[in-house]
Amino acid sequence: SDHNVVYPSKPELMDWHFHFPSRIPPGKESLAEGTAKVEFADIGCGFGGLLFYLAPHFPDKLMVGMEIRTSVTQYVHDKVQVLRKASHALQPSQDNHGDTSESAEQGSANKKARLEGEEGPSETEINTSMVKDAPNIAGSYDNISAMRVNAMKHLPNFFYKGQLSKLFFLHPDPHFKQRKSKNRIISPTLLAEYAYILRPEGILYTITDVEDLHIWMVKHLTAFPLFERIPDDDPFLKEDICVDAVWNATEEGQKVIRNKGSKWFAAFRRIRDPENE
Ligand code: SAM
Repeated sequence: SDHNVVYPSKPELMDWHFHFPSRIPPGKESLAEGTAKVEFADIGCGFGGLLFYLAPHFPDKLMVGMEIRTSVTQYVHDKVQVLRKASHALQPSQDNHGDTSESAEQGSANKKARLEGEEGPSETEINTSMVKDAPNIAGSYDNISAMRVNAMKHLPNFFYKGQLSKLFFLHPDPHFKQRKSKNRIISPTLLAEYAYILRPEGILYTITDVEDLHIWMVKHLTAFPLFERIPDDDPFLKEDICVDAVWNATEEGQKVIRNKGSKWFAAFRRIRDPENE
């Protein structure tokens, strides 16, 4: 249950500094014009595979995973802290003067040594099991975070209208039974919230290995006036690195690949509301 989760009563009261300490200043300053804001949200992020993959690809974007399970959220949070520390430890030290003479081989041996704590700050404890599957240690990972929330409640309390440019729904729980369909995370009522927090031209991605759920999500998103489906073979999607991530980067997606299952993908563009925008 989620009754001990604290929801901000409005976006102005959300403490983003806690999540992105090196990117967002504390207190009211975080609201200052031009200050970075979260732009990508991964709804039901699970173990965070998408975020860890995208972090180094979009170093200037802030991304948040929203997850209802406490232990899973904690795992993502811990892994983010470990990777942030690891990437700090890997930054060239001040007295290197940007020396790039280290050979690639030597470089990776040194990297490994530093990860294992033989060099670098001794207080840096790095959990190598979390680091080893990180896609690209070169990223600083200070642009991703996860929070424990029920994403079916109060999303507009976290984000301003039009704040997000990307929203991900990757392998959402299917809630197979018809009478449970109101529990689905893509539902006619919730689509109005997603359209509100997503800016015009923003993209909503879905993927699932449950064909019935895919049909359901496509039906409701297509019927909603502020979303239009982007054809799968659209050049825009072909060039979008997020599409590869949606297909391959999440833990659930990897499981489907291991089990040689099928996946169904759909992406939607938030279109401008001709009356109000
Ligand atoms: N997106 C991840 C992936 O592809 O690996 C996780 C997929 S997993 C099948 C679905 C996730 O959604 C679970 O981690 C579950 O706890 C989370 N979830 C379900 N309902 C939720 C809700 N209302 N708010 C936030 N997360 C939710």
